[in-house]
Amino acid sequence: PNHGRGFCMDIQAFFKLSYGLYVVSARSGEKKYGCIVNTLQQVTAEPPMLSVAVNKNSVTAKAILDSGRFCGTVLTETADLHLIGTFGFKNSEAVDKFAAFSTKEDENNIPYLTEHAAARYSCEVAGTLDLGTHILIIGKVTEAEILSDEPVMTYDYYHRVVKGGTPPTAPSYKGNISHKPAQKAQWRCKICGYIYEGDPLPADFVCPICGQGADKFEKV
Ligand code: FE
Repeated sequence: PNHGRGFCMDIQAFFKLSYGLYVVSARSGEKKYGCIVNTLQQVTAEPPMLSVAVNKNSVTAKAILDSGRFCGTVLTETADLHLIGTFGFKNSEAVDKFAAFSTKEDENNIPYLTEHAAARYSCEVAGTLDLGTHILIIGKVTEAEILSDEPVMTYDYYHRVVKGGTPPTAPSYKGNISHKPAQKAQWRCKICGYIYEGDPLPADFVCPICGQGADKFEKV
C-alpha cells in the first residue's frame, strides 16, 4: 500500500475503468474506413458532442481528419470475433471491411454497421488534441439513431465472454495482462492478443481474430 510517500504506478489499477466497444468509420473519396475503439464517449449534451481517441498511425484517423467527419457505432454483445477481427485487426486500405456486413450510409455517405449495432452517431470534427501515440477527436453530433435494443458490448464482456484481445495500438493496451490468474495453460497470439486456453496448441490452429497461424502464438 502507498501511504502518500513515494511513487505508485500499478497498471492493474487501469482495469478498474469501464469501457464499451465501438466502430468509428469515415469516408475519403470512394474509400471507406473503419476501426474498433473503446474510447468513444459523450462529453457534452448541449450541443451533443462525443470524444474518441484514435491511434495516429491508423488510416481511419487520417480519413477522419482529412474529411472532417466520422460516424461512431455502438457494438452489441452479438458482435463476434469475425467482426472484431475484421475491424480491429485488418487495414482499411487493404480490404473493404464493410463488405461482409449489413451496412447503411449516413448523411455524409459514411458507412456504418446495421447489424451487431445498438446506435450510431454522425459527427463533424469540432476539435483535436495530439496525445503522442493517439489523437483525441471531438465530434459534434449531427445525427443520432438507435439501431437495436440488444445489450451493448462492454470491454469487460469482450475480454471475459468473447475472449478477445487488445492490440498494442489501443490506448488501453497493458500488455494483455489477464484480469484473473489463469486456471489453464494459455497461448497468446502475438499479433492481436487473442488467448487460447489449453495445451498443447494444435499445430493447425488459426487465430479466430486476426487469422494468423499457430507459429504466431507464444505460451503465456
Ligand atoms: Fe491473432
